[in-house]
Amino acid sequence: MHGKVLVVDPIATHRIVLRVKLAASQYEVLQATSIADAMQQMGKAHPDLILCSTSLPDGTPTRFLARLRKAGLLGKVPVIALGTATGSDERVRLLTAGYDDVLSRPVDNALLLARARSLLRSYASASEWQLREGTSRALGFAEHSAAFGPAPRVRVVTTRPAQAQDWCTQMTPLLQGRVSLCLPVEAVNDDADGGTPDAFVLVTRPGGDHETLGLLASLRSHAATRHSVIMIAQTEEPAPLAAQMLDMGANDLAPFGATLDEIAIRLRALLSRKLMTDALRATVRNGIEASVIDPLTGLNNRRYAMPHVKRIAERAQRTGKPFALMIADLDHFKQVNDRYGHAAGDAVLIDVAKRLRSNLRAVDLVARIGGEEFLMVLPGVDLENAQKAATRLCRKVGDVPVTIPGRDDPITATISIGLIVYDGVRRGDLAAGAPLTAETLLDRADRALYDAKAEGRNRVTLSQSAA
Ligand code: GH3
Ligand code: MG
Ligand code: MG
Repeated sequence: MHGKVLVVDPIATHRIVLRVKLAASQYEVLQATSIADAMQQMGKAHPDLILCSTSLPDGTPTRFLARLRKAGLLGKVPVIALGTATGSDERVRLLTAGYDDVLSRPVDNALLLARARSLLRSYASASEWQLREGTSRALGFAEHSAAFGPAPRVRVVTTRPAQAQDWCTQMTPLLQGRVSLCLPVEAVNDDADGGTPDAFVLVTRPGGDHETLGLLASLRSHAATRHSVIMIAQTEEPAPLAAQMLDMGANDLAPFGATLDEIAIRLRALLSRKLMTDALRATVRNGIEASVIDPLTGLNNRRYAMPHVKRIAERAQRTGKPFALMIADLDHFKQVNDRYGHAAGDAVLIDVAKRLRSNLRAVDLVARIGGEEFLMVLPGVDLENAQKAATRLCRKVGDVPVTIPGRDDPITATISIGLIVYDGVRRGDLAAGAPLTAETLLDRADRALYDAKAEGRNRVTLSQSAA
């Protein structure tokens, strides 16, 4: 089953026609004859889509939406109104009330099903993002703020820009956005000011539906325009490829004869949904970022580091390229805390992290993998250079004491480093047979670190396995 559709219509033949169409496309169909009946059905089942006649026995279509809103369902389930010979003004009225679309009977079968699919897709993706955002929040990441961004950019794509100029000028105040015009070949280029449009209006050319389909495909596959909303403005009727356009990723279709007001209200609805999805997507991305970054030092954490080591080790084994791995641990750090306090200890950790990071290359990983333990991975570095690098890091930390704001006496901190180098040749207990896993590597580096501590600290010790 593709989903559950509730058909609300007092006329039995209308319901039967829709049921046959929808059931043939694997939808489960529920039926209601009035608003009251529909509300009762909504309480029992949870339809994914509502198709509602514009003439209902117990109220106007607007009243039906008001009931849905009161039940907290508006905005959660897409609602399509079906009417007889609905003109653009009537559509504007119903779209303004909150319908997702208004279609005229007799409804083209393919178009109705494509519209249902496109609305189901768009509602499902919004709810998936909401779910993921909920997860990030549960993990303790920042709440999203759906701040109003700058005025939306809308690009109208047409083969006859001169004729659409007036139209664009009138559209600008209706959208409170920046509306620009371009030819199809220019559609995927950046604006003069480098911005990506939030919305595209693709004005079809009579007989040119195939071109519009091609353009749609390229806008959807282009990285910069992938998240832009796309509306098709039809300039002929019937439009044989309209259903395909929806299936290829157009978000809405303004029918032939749509007024400027209708296009504007459809665009506003698309833009406001985009604003919400963008905000949710950003929250999830920030959440993912937050999950791999240590908040104290800004370095990557263990969760990020381990799969990274695994990938580097796998690549090294495949290509024979060397790499070095180090674990650095602050010496007698407990004493630093005991003597100067935990806050001073934190300041030392931040400063040491900064020194490690700024003395390695951008491609090298520096991660905080424990309280006062850091992991460094240097791809492409052989034994000689790894030893030089490790010794340099020891000096950079130990030679200059850490100055703490508000304290006169600087704090001396030193680190010990356990180093292991893989240079394509397996030696010692990394001999052939033993898998070169991230855990094995860290374990060997850890043992070398213990040796460095035992030998007096503030020094580098090379793992015997690779020496
Ligand atoms: P060693 O030279 O053998 O490593 O001695 P150590 O004192 O550094 O080692 P030990 O493992 O005994 O102590 C580590 C200390 O690091 C204990 C803990 O309080 C401190 N520490 C761990 N995480 C943090 C942190 O986030 N902030 C602060 N200020 N201290 C931390
Ligand atoms: Mg330690
Ligand atoms: Mg320590």
